[in-house]
Amino acid sequence: MKLVTYLRDGVAQIGAVVEDEVIDLSEIAPDMLSLIELGNAGLAQARAAVVASKESTPLADVQLLAPIPTPRRNIMCLGLNYAEHAAESAATGATQPELPDYPVIFTKTTTTANGPFDDIPLHAALTEQLDWEVELAVVIGKAGVNIAVDQAMDFVFGYLVLNDVSARDLQWRHNQFFKGKSLDGACPMGPWIVTADEVGDPHSLNIRSRVNGVIKQDSSTAHMIFNVPQTVMHMSSGLTLLPGDIIATGTPSGVGFARTPPEFLQAGDVVECEVERIGLIRNTVVA
Ligand code: MG
Repeated sequence: MKLVTYLRDGVAQIGAVVEDEVIDLSEIAPDMLSLIELGNAGLAQARAAVVASKESTPLADVQLLAPIPTPRRNIMCLGLNYAEHAAESAATGATQPELPDYPVIFTKTTTTANGPFDDIPLHAALTEQLDWEVELAVVIGKAGVNIAVDQAMDFVFGYLVLNDVSARDLQWRHNQFFKGKSLDGACPMGPWIVTADEVGDPHSLNIRSRVNGVIKQDSSTAHMIFNVPQTVMHMSSGLTLLPGDIIATGTPSGVGFARTPPEFLQAGDVVECEVERIGLIRNTVVA
C-alpha cells in the first residue's frame, strides 16, 4: 500500500493511493503515527477499507503533506553510507577517507519535515551552500531495542523518499552536522510511505536526484555500506526505536559540495529525488 497524509478541507488526514486516486482512511486512524501504532491489524483494516471503498478523490486534487507531518522525534540519519559519496566527500577534505566501521549517525529536527511537493526555504541570510541529498528512508513499525540483524526487517513498516537538504557551511562551521542539517523545511519527504511488503528487497533500487532536470545523483541502494538490517541493528543498540521513527539511510555520490566546481542550490531551482518502487518528490527552492 501507498499511504499518504493529505489536506482535505484544510484538515490533515490519512489515505491510501490506488492508481491516481486517494481513498480515505480517516475512520481507521486520525493520523499516520496512530495508524502505524495499530500494527498489522491497522494495515489489515486499511487494506479492507481500500477493497470496500466506493468513493475516492483524484490524487491531483489533494495537497500531499509529509507522510508523518510532525515526526514524534528527530529524523535519524546515516552519513557517508555509500562508498563513492564517502570518497567524494573525503576528496574535498571535509571528512576522513577511511570507510567507517560503524555508521556515522546524526539527526534532523522535527521542524525540518516538509511536504513532497512543497517549497524548500533557501535561508539565504544564513547559508550560501544549500545542497541536495536523495535518500531512501525507513519507517519503523514497532518499538524495539537491541534488534538483531536477522530480526530487523520485522521492524520495518515501510519506506519513503527523503531529501536530506544540507547547509554545508553551517555543517562544517558548527563542527557537528546537526545545525547544518536542521534548518526549517530541510527535509522534504514522501510522496507516501510504501509498505514494506510492496517494496520487497530495499537493496536493489535505483536512486536518483535531478536539479532543474539535470541528473546529479544516479546510483543503487545496492551500494549502501550499512544495509537496512545493519542500520536498524546499529541504531537500536541500547536505544529503543519507536513506531513512526524515520531513519534516512544516506546519500550516494553526486552532491553539490563535492562537484568540480562546487554547486549549491539557488532560488528557483527545482530538485527532484526519486527512488525506484517508492516514488518521486519535487521541491522548488524559494528565497
Ligand atoms: Mg544525508
